Amino acid sequence: MALVDLSAEELAAFMTAQKSAYDELKSRGLKLDLTRGKPSAQQLDLSNELLKLPTGYVAADGTDTRNYGGLHGLTELREIFAELLGVNVDQLVAQGNSSLTLMHQVLVDCLLHGAVDSERPWSGEDKIKFICPVPGYDRHFSLLNSFGIEMVTVPMNADGPDADKIAALVKDDASIKGMWVVPTYANPTGDTVSQEVAAKLLAMPTAAPDFKIFWDNAYALHHLTDVETKSVDVLSLAASSGNPNRPILFASTSKITFAGAGVAFLAASTENIGWFLKHVGMSSIGPDKVNHLRHAEFFKDADGVRAHMRKHAEIIAPKFEAVERILTERLAEHDIAEWTKPIGGYFVSLDVLPGTASRVVQLAKEAGIALTPAGSSFPLGTDPDDENIRLAPTMPPLEEVEVAMDGVATCVLLAAGEYLSK
Ligand code: PLP
Repeated sequence: MALVDLSAEELAAFMTAQKSAYDELKSRGLKLDLTRGKPSAQQLDLSNELLKLPTGYVAADGTDTRNYGGLHGLTELREIFAELLGVNVDQLVAQGNSSLTLMHQVLVDCLLHGAVDSERPWSGEDKIKFICPVPGYDRHFSLLNSFGIEMVTVPMNADGPDADKIAALVKDDASIKGMWVVPTYANPTGDTVSQEVAAKLLAMPTAAPDFKIFWDNAYALHHLTDVETKSVDVLSLAASSGNPNRPILFASTSKITFAGAGVAFLAASTENIGWFLKHVGMSSIGPDKVNHLRHAEFFKDADGVRAHMRKHAEIIAPKFEAVERILTERLAEHDIAEWTKPIGGYFVSLDVLPGTASRVVQLAKEAGIALTPAGSSFPLGTDPDDENIRLAPTMPPLEEVEVAMDGVATCVLLAAGEYLSK
């Protein structure tokens, strides 16, 4: 029976049961952590062969990878990932280990120099705003905030950000210079941008002539089931919509090989690639091509990456299944929470009764279960409804995910009961 439909006596009995369940949970002295969107050690082990590679140092085209140069990144690795990301090799660059660094670089270059289609550097504008689909990736928001860029939130729906709302916002407001989107298996909802939503975002008229979509395809290849969702071909769509320079695509192998020693990619129009390399060439004579070569040797081809990703799924899919199973068993009948059932990516987004997310996180903390702070998936860490909690089940072992999720469910029930008893 839904919790809101309980009589006062039934609610009181429910609260007594939940309080004792919570006391029992606390007495167990747990020390569990569901905050870290990182690969587990078992996943990192899948790539240990990299530690013995490359076997040589000369690339297929004769490049001595030990030396300077090759700002684009190594061709054989770009060929593999161009196929996987659905872009032309010429429009893809391979760089250092972090795509977040690339996003930061692009933003800084827009601020200091302006984009290819800017009238002036963005820093010369009176005000700059970005559209932020929520819930979203906290580091996107803290990056914008570090530059004083104002964040305008729009809902992230099952088929992507609310494109009609975005179109209405950007039509007349030239201070809106860009937007974030995680197009495939988004952080934290797991949702994927549909062709229709993407088409609207790429074709919509924008008051700013240099409006940019930061298309952060961090989880493009991170399927959890046999359904291998294909990302929208954003660069072709942009070109055919007459806005070839609007999207800049980012990706990396952070959650494919080693999060701390992978390869990050940027794909964009030929003009944008030229712009990016011109600026990056001021700070680097070339990326770590030895790392590119060992990744190319390790994977061999795109199918090598696909097979590797299936091994990741074998390890982490049971953890996502445990989250789904436990939340359903413990919460579904009470109608006090909704959660996503991702078929890819790294997170589950849990919405509890509005006004109770911080309380759930606090209760969990006191019971020894670390959850990402409520509001983390919103700009400035503020969820106006205090209802969203991001769950990250990849890192702990399966048994710990199960115990932690059972504890989380107890906290959600108690917080909901407290709220309704007020
Ligand atoms: N983009 C999204 C959406 C992420 O969730 C993450 C990591 O959690 C990153 C980017 C970080 O990527 P990288 O390790 O390539 O800097």
